[in-house]
Amino acid sequence: MGGIMKGIFEKIIDREVHAEIVYEDDRVIAFEDINPVAPKHLLVVPKQRIRSLQEIETEDLPLLGHCLWVLRQLAEQSGVAQEGYRVVNNVGEYGGQTVEHLHFHLIGGRAMTWPPG
Ligand code: AMP
Repeated sequence: MGGIMKGIFEKIIDREVHAEIVYEDDRVIAFEDINPVAPKHLLVVPKQRIRSLQEIETEDLPLLGHCLWVLRQLAEQSGVAQEGYRVVNNVGEYGGQTVEHLHFHLIGGRAMTWPPG
């Protein structure tokens, strides 16, 4: 992985940019969002370079399942599981995606509203 077009999340994975990392294993890294929208706002990021959910293939399904498992564990660990939380994946322009590397937001610590903005 790497090259001249390395994105911000790849730089975090490679420890070239600092982040408050809360979890890491061979497939996934999780860290605090630099611009939190709630008292608890983590990002769960597969290390594999996948641009968005729209680029996943069937061979990526175990990785996606693992992401959900990590989200579930981090919700527990960060104390938001009991009251509830939100998992968000933004896709593309209308979805509000700003970083072109697949990631899931874990947002909690306050009541959410629906519909989203
Ligand atoms: P999205 O808009 O869904 O693509 O989400 C990208 C998220 O990455 C935003 O919530 C940003 O605040 C967050 N973000 C961008 N740069 C960093 C960084 N260096 N460290 C932590 N979070 C970041």
